[in-house]
Amino acid sequence: MKTWSKFYISTLRDSPADAEIASHKLLMRAGLVRKLGGGLYTYMPLGLRVMQKISKICREELEVSDAIELWMPHLHPVDNWEQGPRWAAAREIMFRADNAGANKGRSREPEFVLGPTHEEIITPLVKNEITSYRDLPKNFYQIATKFRNEIRPRFGLMRAREFVMMDAYSFDANDEGATKSYFAMKDAYKRFFKRIGVTAIAVEADTGVMGGSFSHEFMVPAEIGDDDVIYNEASGYAANREKATSALVPADLADAAPIGAIEEFATPGATTIAALEAAPYNVKGSEQFKTLVYMGDGKPFLVIIRGNDELEEAKLGSLGFTLTRAATAEEIEPVLGAKPGSLGAIKGSIKDQAALAGIFADHAIRLIGNGTTGANKDGFHVRNVNVTRDLAITKFGDFRRVRPGEPDPKNGQPLSVKRGIEVGHIFKLGTKYSEKFGAVYTDDAKQNHPMVMGCYGIGISRTLQAVIEQSHDNDGIIWPWAVAPFQIIVTLLDPSVAEPAALAKQLAEVAEKAGADVIIDDREERPGVKFKDADLIGIPLRITIGGKGLAAGIIELKWRSKKDVIKVPVAEAAEQIA
Ligand code: ATP
Ligand code: MG
Ligand code: MG
Ligand code: MG
Repeated sequence: MKTWSKFYISTLRDSPADAEIASHKLLMRAGLVRKLGGGLYTYMPLGLRVMQKISKICREELEVSDAIELWMPHLHPVDNWEQGPRWAAAREIMFRADNAGANKGRSREPEFVLGPTHEEIITPLVKNEITSYRDLPKNFYQIATKFRNEIRPRFGLMRAREFVMMDAYSFDANDEGATKSYFAMKDAYKRFFKRIGVTAIAVEADTGVMGGSFSHEFMVPAEIGDDDVIYNEASGYAANREKATSALVPADLADAAPIGAIEEFATPGATTIAALEAAPYNVKGSEQFKTLVYMGDGKPFLVIIRGNDELEEAKLGSLGFTLTRAATAEEIEPVLGAKPGSLGAIKGSIKDQAALAGIFADHAIRLIGNGTTGANKDGFHVRNVNVTRDLAITKFGDFRRVRPGEPDPKNGQPLSVKRGIEVGHIFKLGTKYSEKFGAVYTDDAKQNHPMVMGCYGIGISRTLQAVIEQSHDNDGIIWPWAVAPFQIIVTLLDPSVAEPAALAKQLAEVAEKAGADVIIDDREERPGVKFKDADLIGIPLRITIGGKGLAAGIIELKWRSKKDVIKVPVAEAAEQIA
């Protein structure tokens, strides 16, 4: 049991100017976090309690699915990443820890990077640890800090530079086993989100830069989400936009191998465009609408950036872009189905394709105008699409069909679109990493095989905020019972009077025995202030002791999620609470 006066909770009347969405405002106002810098937050004691509860439930459900906890370093030798399959694509998102003193004046690669995810660490670890089929399958996880140099950290914990993730990695002897591990994790995710009181739907996702064979994203439906969920209520179909789009591509093209890397198109001109037009268009990549767009020879083109992913003008300038004008809603709406007024357009040529690939890698970019879409070798597939505006519309016709407000049928079923927050992700990876790192095992006939991997992530800190986004009202947060920092607040109206204080303590003890976490608001404050604070920080049950009620032998119970107050005779209070 805690008392408010000895604990530390600092609520704010107003939210800071940079907090745009409800959950970010409430995070700040309820004093769950404090900002250090862009995408960097201190978890205050109240916020930390929520994070710990979410983590605990996550651990419990993962362990039901046989995952085993470990802890890996966050400072990664760059060698691991260079050896892995996606260094070129991933480096832009990584912070470098370049050993400033030792490396001064020398132009060589940094020796360390801060880990954005841990495939490049776990795979060589398991290679050294596990050699026999007898030790498989294994699934290792950690709940730890991740670092990503997000171009535009925003919405508080939603897109941070340093954040907390559960990441797990499964190793199996064969594909069948890997599929089993994958679905065991999918089930664990479902149980986890259910227990923490969050509605998260599993949607089919493309495997994209990770490669591998299949993938689901867990999305919390929310207007402010960065992702589109394409769904059909009746059939239960749900996919992210990339997947839904690629799924609509004719089957014979869907499996076509990527035809090349960005370098091969370094000087697209009339010839390249003609060649591309002649070739069947390749849509294997998941990043179809989330990719680098370029025109290497300086021809003008137009890039449309989804409005809430605007890039910094300065950064674009340094790459040779100039912002010419904002695209009009009329230009964009019919092509992208995006919200009018929320888009920018840039025109120019690109000096530094590699840098641009990194910057654009995580953003929804679509192109209209002349050019090709492509990406670098390590994951973003090249699509040989001639993207004149008309062709974009024709060839992306399938994409048009699933645009918001324009449902078109998939297999005869109408599709709708809603926004979602990606809170978790599961991949069946295959042998991409195990082959690179030589993570092989010996079977009972002494034959070597690469292990078949899966990887899994839950944004623990993002989920914390998604809970708030999903569960709040005008007065504040409404925590689901399981993750509330305290489940019960005992509000003492006259904290200095001995009798009610003793009753509060007694009831708090009863509640704690029954498994609830309790805080007693023992501050010398007006009742109105206390009630407001209790609502703001979202404690599920408030027990009010004192004043006229107590004089009449009554205490009050009030659920945060309900309007009415329940009056309970003091004599029955303990029984009711237990
Ligand atoms: P996003 O598409 O939002 O950038 P991601 O696909 O890059 O996320 P994953 O690599 O799949 O993220 O990581 C697993 C989980 O980690 C995500 O599902 C998300 O919940 C969380 N996550 C990723 N990036 C961030 C971030 N910058 N801040 C907070 N949580 C994040
Ligand atoms: Mg990302
Ligand atoms: Mg994503
Ligand atoms: Mg993801």
